[in-house]
Amino acid sequence: MTDSATHRLRVGRYECLVIKDGTAGNPDLGEFMKPVPAELADYEMFMEGGLMLIDAPDRRILIDAGNGPTRGPRTHAAEAAFEAESAAPESIDTVLLTHGDPDHIAGLLTAEGALVYPDARYAMHRDLWEAWHAPSAGGLYFPNQADVIRRLVELLSDRLDDTGALFDTECEVAPGLRAVPALGHRAGHTAYLIESDGQKLLHIGDAAFDPVFLEYAGIPNVRDTDPERARDSRRALVERAVAEDAVVVGSHFRVDNVGKLRRIDRDRFEWTPA
Ligand SMILES: [Zn+2]
Repeated sequence: MTDSATHRLRVGRYECLVIKDGTAGNPDLGEFMKPVPAELADYEMFMEGGLMLIDAPDRRILIDAGNGPTRGPRTHAAEAAFEAESAAPESIDTVLLTHGDPDHIAGLLTAEGALVYPDARYAMHRDLWEAWHAPSAGGLYFPNQADVIRRLVELLSDRLDDTGALFDTECEVAPGLRAVPALGHRAGHTAYLIESDGQKLLHIGDAAFDPVFLEYAGIPNVRDTDPERARDSRRALVERAVAEDAVVVGSHFRVDNVGKLRRIDRDRFEWTPA
C-alpha cells in the first residue's frame, strides 16, 4: 500500500501540484558530483521521483508521468494523488515530457499497455522521439525499457502531428508554458517555464537531482549522458531562474523543496526553499 505525497503551489492563475511517485533515498553525492567540494563532504543528498499536475484556467497539464502502475517499488503512488484531487486521467489535456527515463515515462502506460491519459495531446523534444526510433535500445540509458518505448511509439505516433508536439528549440507548448530545451542529461532533455500574472516557475526536470547541483552549477554530474553539455545546460537554467526570479522545481527534489536561487559567485548560487 502506498500513500501519496503532494505539495501545492500557485503561479499566478496556475495551480501546480507536485506529486511524488517513487522511492525516496539518500544516495552518495560522490556517485554523481565529481569532484565533491570539501565543504560538501557531509552533505546528505536526497532523491525522490515524481511528476507535476498543472491546472490552468482552460486546461489540465501533466509534466512527466512518474513510475505509474508498472514500475516499483514506490513509496508514493501518483494514482492516490489523482484520486485525492478527483482528477480523472481522462481530464488531462496535455502531457509534456522532460526526457525518457523509466521513472518519468513508465507511468504513461497501464499494466495492460494502454495509455493512462488517453485523451491528452503529447509534446516532447524531437531528439527524444528520434532516440525512441533507434534500431536497438543500445542508445538508451536504461536498455530494459525497450518494451515500454516500443509500445509508446505505437500509441503516440498519430498523436504527435499537431504544431509544437515535437519541438527542437524553445517554444510555447501551451498558453503561458514554454519548453526550454536543456540538453545533456538524456536525449532531448527539456525544462518547462510556466508564467502567469508575472509569476514564474521553472520545472528543471533532471537538470539537477538535488538543489546542491544548482548551488554548485559548475560541477558536472557524471551520471548525465553528456556531463559537460548537461552542466552547461544546468548553468543556463540557473542563470535564467535568477534573472527571471522564478521558483524552481526539480523532478527528484523532496516534495516540498521548491525554491529560489541567488548568485553568490560566478558558478556558486544559494538555494532558498520558498
Ligand atoms: Zn529522473
